[in-house]
Amino acid sequence: MDRYALWMTQAQIDQLALEAAIEQARKSLREGGIPIGSALVTGEGVVVALGHNLRVQSGDPTAHAETVCIRNAGRRRDWHTLTLASTLSPCAMCSGTAVLHRIPRIVIGEHTTFLGREDWLAASGAAIVLANDQRCVAMMREFIKKRPDLWDEDIGIPERGGSGSGARSAGRTKRRR
Ligand SMILES: [Zn+2]
Repeated sequence: MDRYALWMTQAQIDQLALEAAIEQARKSLREGGIPIGSALVTGEGVVVALGHNLRVQSGDPTAHAETVCIRNAGRRRDWHTLTLASTLSPCAMCSGTAVLHRIPRIVIGEHTTFLGREDWLAASGAAIVLANDQRCVAMMREFIKKRPDLWDEDIGIPERGGSGSGARSAGRTKRRR
């Protein structure tokens, strides 16, 4: 990828990062997990880490896509030069992790189905690029409709009522986590 770096525009790098994140989301879905993916790229468009939600696969409640991606990037000192892409608006935990590491650019696939703490990211001075990608919206809509229980669990919403059915949450309006 290095050889193409010189002529990639920022918009192309953002798109490349989002495409890598979408591929990660699809991978998670194929594994029976939650379809949220993430990628970290350099200012030259080199992908340094990938990750997807592993909460179902691993049983780790903190294994959200962005946090997994940052974990996969390992120890480094160049966070302040990287772009983090996610297929979905980053939650409080993932936004906090990005703020902690001073990641200056966040590409977000969509925030229609769920709005995370973009306000924290913005307050930290990070540039937010909202792609409003309809593939991301469709993937989450379909998943939330099929597995509302899994989705509620992902964002810390307690079970309600006696049945334990998550069907009540289908079609609800967007919420924060
Ligand atoms: Zn998260």
